[in-house]
Amino acid sequence: MTESKMMPDFGKIVYQRPSIEKFKECVQSTRLKLMSARDPEVAAAALFEYEKELASFDTMVALANILHDLDTSDQYYADEVAFCDEAGATVSDLCSAVYSVLLSSPCAEELKEKYGDMIFRKAQNLKETVSSEVIDDLVEESNLETEYVQIQSEAEIKFDGKTLNLSMLSPYLESLDRNTRIRAHKALDDYYMSKKETFDEIFDKMVKVRTKIALKLGYKSFTELGYKRMERYDYTREDIDSFRESILKYIVPITKKIRELQKERFGYEQLMFYDLPCIFKHGNPVPSVSMNDYRKVSGDVFAEVLGAKPSFFDVLSDHGFTDLISRKAKSTGGYCMYLEEYAIPFIFMNANGTADDVATIVHEGGHAYAAIKSAEVSPFVECLSPTLETCEIHSTSMEFLTYPYMERFYGENAQAYRELHMTQALLFLPYGCMVDEFQHIIYDDPDLTPEQRHEVWKSLEEKYQPFIRYDDHPFHSMGGAWMKKDHIFTTPFYYIDYCLAHICSLELWDESLIDYKSALIKYNQLCECGGTETFLKILEGVGLASPFDVDTIKRLAFRTCDFLEL
Ligand code: ZN
Repeated sequence: MTESKMMPDFGKIVYQRPSIEKFKECVQSTRLKLMSARDPEVAAAALFEYEKELASFDTMVALANILHDLDTSDQYYADEVAFCDEAGATVSDLCSAVYSVLLSSPCAEELKEKYGDMIFRKAQNLKETVSSEVIDDLVEESNLETEYVQIQSEAEIKFDGKTLNLSMLSPYLESLDRNTRIRAHKALDDYYMSKKETFDEIFDKMVKVRTKIALKLGYKSFTELGYKRMERYDYTREDIDSFRESILKYIVPITKKIRELQKERFGYEQLMFYDLPCIFKHGNPVPSVSMNDYRKVSGDVFAEVLGAKPSFFDVLSDHGFTDLISRKAKSTGGYCMYLEEYAIPFIFMNANGTADDVATIVHEGGHAYAAIKSAEVSPFVECLSPTLETCEIHSTSMEFLTYPYMERFYGENAQAYRELHMTQALLFLPYGCMVDEFQHIIYDDPDLTPEQRHEVWKSLEEKYQPFIRYDDHPFHSMGGAWMKKDHIFTTPFYYIDYCLAHICSLELWDESLIDYKSALIKYNQLCECGGTETFLKILEGVGLASPFDVDTIKRLAFRTCDFLEL
C-alpha cells in the first residue's frame, strides 16, 4: 500500500457478482483436504486456498456496498447488495463447515504452533454461537432488526412547515435558539410516542427470540450468548460490572460538574434535556477550512502525526479510496470498509461543514491506518482485524493523537474543539454504561413487560445521568429514550466496547501529553497486532493498562479534569 505506484485506482476495480457455487466447491475441496491431510503443510495449503476464495468473496460484497452507498439511485448495486445480504447466511454456514473440520484436524496442534491459535478460537466460537437448529430463529431475529431500522429510516416529522426525517431534524435539536430546540425536541418526543407500541412489540419479540436461540444452544440466558457473539475471549460479565462501577464512581461526578458549568454558562435556572447538546454559549466550534480542503488538510495532519509524507490518507485519496463530502443520492453515515483482496481500506463519510466532520475523518482514518498496518499480519483474513473493542481503540486514539494538529482545521478555535471533544468523550462514558447495564437487566429477565423495561431505563438514567430533566415530554419522561439507540435493537451488547476503547484511548492521550513519541510507538504497535491476539493480551503486549484496572480509570478522571480545568 505504501508503494503508491502499485496501487490500483478505486474506479478501475471491477465489481463482479461473487459466485456462491464457486465458494461452495472451494469449501468442499478444503474440507476433504483438511480431513485427510497428515502433513501440516498440506493442511495449511488447503486452508490458504479457502482463505483466498473467502477474501475474494468478501471483497466483492464490500465493493457492492460501497458502490451502492456512493450512489443509492443506481438500482444495479441496490440489487447486488440485496443479493450479497441474502448470500451472507449461506456463506457463514459454509465457513463454519470449514471450521468444524479444522478443529478436529489431525494437524491442529502443528497448525496452532505455526500460525497461532486465534483462528482456532474463532472457529470454536462460531461453532458455539450458530447451529442448524437455530437458523430459522436467526432469520426471525434479523427480520425484526430490519423492521426497526426501516421504520426509523421512514420517519416523517412535521417541523416548521417541513417534513423531515430523523437526521434532518438533528441540527434543530442542537439549535442555539432555545425555542427552536424546545420545539424540535417536542417533535421528536411526539414521533417516538407515536411509535412506542410498535417498537415495544418489536423489541419484545427480539428479546424472546434471542432468549430462545440462547436456550437452544445450551446457554442460561441470551447474555451469555451475547458475550460469545461479541467474541469476549478474555474478560467476563463480572469485569464489565466492575468497569461500570468505576465509571459511576469516578466519571459521573465529573459529568455532573460539566453540566453544572454548562447551566451557569447559559444562565439557565434549570438545564433541561433539550439544552444538553449545546455545550458552548456561542455554538460548538466548526472547522475554519472549507470542505473542499478537508482532503488535503487531513493528509497533512496524518503526515505530521505519523511522520511520513505523503501520508496513507494522501495515497488513499489520490487513488480514489476516500469519499468525504455529503451529496444527493449518497447514503448517510460514515465508515471504513476493507477490501481484503487488495489490502486497501475505503473511507466513506458525509461531511457537511459541522463540528462532527473532523472527528469523523480522524476516527475513520484511524480505522484505515490500522487496516493497512495489519494487512499482512496473518495468513487468515479472519485474523487481520481484532475484536471490536480493539478496533475502536485504533480509531478513537487517533481522535486524541491528532489534538496537537487541530489548528490546521480549526485555526484559533482549536482549543475549543479539543475541549468539546474531551467533554463529549467524558459524557459518553456513563451513557455507554447505561446502555450496557440496561441490556443485562433486560436479558436476565426476558419476561419483563414493556412498561417494566421503561421503568428500568428510568432508574438507570437517575443513576448515570442524574442531571437529566425531561419536563413535559411524555415519551422521554416515562423512560423511553433507549428506543432511539439502534445498537440496543440491532447489535446487542456491542455498546460497552466503545467505552472500553475510550478508556484505552484516554490512556494513550495521557501518555502523549508527557511523551508523544512513546504514545505513538504504542499506537503503532497496537495497529500492527491486527487480530492475532485477544483484547487484554494485545494491551499487555503494547504496554497499555487494562480498562478493567480501577486505578487507571481513577487516574484518567483526574487527568481529564485537569485538562478541562474542572
Ligand atoms: Zn469506529
